[in-house]
Amino acid sequence: MSRRYDWLIVGAGFTGAAVAERLARGLDQTVLLIDRRDHVGGNAHDRRDEGGRLIHPYGPHVFHTNSARIFDYLGQFTAWRPYFHRVRGHVDGRLVPVPFNLDSIRLLFPERMAERLSDTLVQRFGFGARPSIHDLRQATDDADLRFLADYVFDKLFANYTAKQWGVAADALDASVLARVPVAISRDDRYFVDRYQAMPREGYGALFDRLLDHPNIHVSLNTGMDQVGAQTWDRMVYCGALDDYFGRSAGALPYRSVRFEHQIVDVEHGLPVGTVNYPNEFDFTRITDFRHLTGERGATTATVTEYPVAHEMGVNAPYYPVLSEASRGLAAQYRAMAATLAGKVWFAGRLADFQYYNMDQAVGRALSLVEKSLAPAVARMAA
Ligand code: FAD
Ligand code: UDP
Repeated sequence: MSRRYDWLIVGAGFTGAAVAERLARGLDQTVLLIDRRDHVGGNAHDRRDEGGRLIHPYGPHVFHTNSARIFDYLGQFTAWRPYFHRVRGHVDGRLVPVPFNLDSIRLLFPERMAERLSDTLVQRFGFGARPSIHDLRQATDDADLRFLADYVFDKLFANYTAKQWGVAADALDASVLARVPVAISRDDRYFVDRYQAMPREGYGALFDRLLDHPNIHVSLNTGMDQVGAQTWDRMVYCGALDDYFGRSAGALPYRSVRFEHQIVDVEHGLPVGTVNYPNEFDFTRITDFRHLTGERGATTATVTEYPVAHEMGVNAPYYPVLSEASRGLAAQYRAMAATLAGKVWFAGRLADFQYYNMDQAVGRALSLVEKSLAPAVARMAA
């Protein structure tokens, strides 16, 4: 790489790709976008399997956002297929809606008891409310609510969380379990965001259009250590925060996942996009891609997720394990990152050590460019 670029961007996931697009198209900057993987898209990457079925190699990615700005931004690069993700949990031998809702209660308890529990919930929280499991567990003044909170926690959250994170639920930041509320309604959609849709031709086609600009040069199978400092002026780093500093203050905790992909006849597929198995097996959930992609055929592709410890160089750091201790360590690294201000910027799920969804990664990229990179470009030009 002999030529010089205005910017080096490390990591071609949603964060790095959106930063690259805005710098190139919006600010006429030249960009070298690298990724150590052999594809762009980061964990949102999708591809066709040998049978032509669209699959998500790194686990199911369902797009949802409340932000018109982010939805419209991505809409420049893809048409959308409306899709409402639905999840069932295997609890006491039944498949019940997750988020746990009034129908879950009806399916799990005798009729009169289910009515009483539902009435109590509605009276306490209001119909349509979506309290977190933590909120429900706070309602200790009522015996029915106490019973229900313990039941939902034990049957849906405790074991799933232990499998997924390798630690007990109370060792984690409360925000993690709060991602999946209890729904005081019959709404069985997993998300209630205003915009819920899948890129009609997949994430791959979206990324190809996003990065199709003469100012953007993509270099795959390329790690940051392979790019000489003479190649770029400024950098946006979207890899793991602790990685950048050689883990000098200690390793940030991440959780990894082993994905097992299978092909099954459609009659053995799932009734909804995903089924969660909180209490049995070593895996947490199975996803049936035909629901996400809308593709039809005699067979369907599924993926089963086995959470595992993250081992450097062996598997990928998929999930930041958020706790008071890990936030403290991330803050130390952030202070180190601040010393590089004006030369290197850090952004993304890995570099911010935040549990971002795809829309949040894009939002982070857009605001980084607007608030920090555009002013830096303007200063250079002055
Ligand atoms: P990433 O996608 O992780 O991209 C970072 C890239 O940087 C990687 O490709 C990596 O190879 C590269 N990289 C790192 N270090 C270096 C280096 N030193 N040199 C070169 N390259 C490097 N979000 C949703 O909105 N909906 C979902 O349904 C959903 N499901 C998910 C399921 C799973 C199993 C996982 C793990 C995540 C899911 N997400 C979902 C979250 C989503 O994947 C992220 O929000 C999004 O991909 C973050 O984008 P990013 O660019 O910040 O990071
Ligand atoms: N969770 C759970 N049981 C479930 C679904 C979720 O305990 O049936 C908890 C678990 O700790 C999980 C977290 O809620 O890691 C967030 O769930 P989400 O579905 O948002 O996880 P992701 O899709 O990011 O893996």
